[in-house]
Amino acid sequence: MAKKVLKFGGTSVGSIERIKHIANIIKNENSQNNQIIVVVSAMAGKTNELLDYSKSISDKFDKRELDVLITSGEQVTSALLSGMLIELGVKAKSWMNWQIPILTEGDHGNSRIVNINIQEINNFLSSGGVAVIPGFQGITKNKDITSIGRGGSDATAVAIAKIFNTDCCDIYTDVDGVYTTDPRQYKKAKKIKKIFYDEMLEMASLGSKVMQPTSVQDAKLNKIDIKVKSSFVSKSGTLITGSTKIFSNQIITGISSTKN
Ligand code: ASP
Ligand code: MG
Repeated sequence: MAKKVLKFGGTSVGSIERIKHIANIIKNENSQNNQIIVVVSAMAGKTNELLDYSKSISDKFDKRELDVLITSGEQVTSALLSGMLIELGVKAKSWMNWQIPILTEGDHGNSRIVNINIQEINNFLSSGGVAVIPGFQGITKNKDITSIGRGGSDATAVAIAKIFNTDCCDIYTDVDGVYTTDPRQYKKAKKIKKIFYDEMLEMASLGSKVMQPTSVQDAKLNKIDIKVKSSFVSKSGTLITGSTKIFSNQIITGISSTKN
């Protein structure tokens, strides 16, 4: 038995069909007696759509209300995924940031997670349940809803891996791993099996959008191994790690670029 965080990005929850597909991945993991905490993003494009609504009112839309608005996409996918799992006969339950709570500090739009209450969710996991948690959301000690930065669901997954002390942190996305360079620009790009945190940070800051840089930073600080894999094809992905054991003495790992 292992305790796992499985995080699914926007395209993986982008339609009901896809939600059903990942619910089956989760069901399969759960049936192997693993304890599963799922973290979800909003449906692809949703957060931008919500931001656009606010901009149509004002470019200086109130920051507190903006966080209430833009974190709502994750509420929708949490409920849809939980409902789908229940439909498939899996015991599942969603929690919103404030119900847990996921405590954050810092500015609206760019908070960071400082603590998560684990008791209730751990009890649910022990009873065989799958816990579904929205990424990107938090709440301050003054009970204001916060968001933790764009792409922040990755950081939620890493924080959960750390605070719940899970055995792994799997990031399911629409690519099957990190490539030596952008495979859309260079067809001979190869998938990287293992990459160091610092290398991944370089790649991320130079435009590889596979993972949010803050989350890689957090993973490095807390020595959490991350596995990036595809929710569409079942292939081995890329391991992001600090462990030196598994590396050959290669000189170059990958090349990233920015446009213009
Ligand atoms: N939905 C948020 C965003 O689009 C968080 C995430 O997807 O990780 O930035
Ligand atoms: Mg993302």
